[in-house]
Amino acid sequence: MISPELARQTMLDRARPLPAAPVALREALGLTLAADVLPLDDQPPFDNSAMDGYAVRAADVAGAAREQPIALTVVETIPAGSWPARIIGAGQAAKIMTGAPLPEGADAVVRVEDTDTAAPQVRLFHEPALGENIRRRGEDLRRGQPALRAGQRLTPARVGLCAAAGCAAVFVHRRPRIGVVVTGEELVEPGEPLPPGKIRNSNSYALHAQILETGGEPVHYGIAPDERRATAALLRRALGECDIVLTSGGVSAGDFDVVKDALADAGGAIFFTRVAQRPGAPLVGGAAGETLFYGLPGNPVSVMVCFEMYVRPAIRRLLGRQNLWRPRLTGCFEEPFRKPAGLTFWARVIVRRDGDRVALTPSAPQGSGVLRSMALGDGLAELPPEMTVAGPGDPLTVHLFDNDD
Ligand code: AMP
Ligand code: MG
Repeated sequence: MISPELARQTMLDRARPLPAAPVALREALGLTLAADVLPLDDQPPFDNSAMDGYAVRAADVAGAAREQPIALTVVETIPAGSWPARIIGAGQAAKIMTGAPLPEGADAVVRVEDTDTAAPQVRLFHEPALGENIRRRGEDLRRGQPALRAGQRLTPARVGLCAAAGCAAVFVHRRPRIGVVVTGEELVEPGEPLPPGKIRNSNSYALHAQILETGGEPVHYGIAPDERRATAALLRRALGECDIVLTSGGVSAGDFDVVKDALADAGGAIFFTRVAQRPGAPLVGGAAGETLFYGLPGNPVSVMVCFEMYVRPAIRRLLGRQNLWRPRLTGCFEEPFRKPAGLTFWARVIVRRDGDRVALTPSAPQGSGVLRSMALGDGLAELPPEMTVAGPGDPLTVHLFDNDD
């Protein structure tokens, strides 16, 4: 029996950011850059107009006002995507659209709302400052100067910035492949009839969603029967193809709990088989070569809690993330909450902020089969081993889910 901290660290010590690979920009959201992003061009690539209006020489329009318009001769119209044909001379202007290149000679743009047309002239009612309504070449990005740095995670804005930099693909730590093997003769998929003695396979689906939410690629190996050889065969395949392999069920003391033996048969090493926690005591940690193995207990809450507290940080490390943790806060139970001594308890709680107080209540009954406690909870409150009652005066760390409606 080892502590949660030691169990987590044992596994994290073997987790390294995955090698860099080029990934198409549309696939890269959430991945971490393994190299700087160098713009291929300046952005914007040329001085251009920030408004629909008229490109002018500011000096020509000095003193222009509503009651004192100044007229200039319009020499051309410049749509976005074209290139100006004329140089703007004294007394001249070009009609210009937002994003169109600024013609040579012009040094300001007067927006169309401050003008009216008296063809072939335009009357201007506003005296622009030098450079007004002009976006300068390279004001966002400069060719050759990093737009983003290795280690930064691709958010939507950063994906956009990569595109602006001209990159169709980015070098990122590749997405970890997370194999899922669920075990149990009793399992039936949702959508199928439920014969007597059978239960729904919910763990595959909860794990699939947790893997996706974390940024991994789920790879499913189906339902293993409670039989050593067949389970070992599935594990061997999964361990050879994935960066992390998860099993659910088959790790407790039942007659048909064959996962540990099957892992050994599949060439895996076991580091620990029990963790001083509830839910999730029969958590198994192991590895085969570079692939990490987590034998998650079968109960739906245990599976999800162990994923949260052990697997999620490991996936984040493989992704190249610096911060492995959920946002945390400190809160207190409103009513005394009891737990056994000698183990860490992960309580599923609803969090209510009340001024600067954070009040916790159990989200549902705390049995490891009551999946509603996860589904309705805002996070996991961590009750340390020595504690037997957590009351209103006992501050607890809460690991927050991302569960806004
Ligand atoms: P085990 O450790 O294999 O005995 O599983 C513990 C409990 O979790 C049993 O009640 C199982 O029926 C249940 N369980 C195992 N696998 C799943 C699953 N994939 N989905 C839902 N419940 C499961
Ligand atoms: Mg089982």
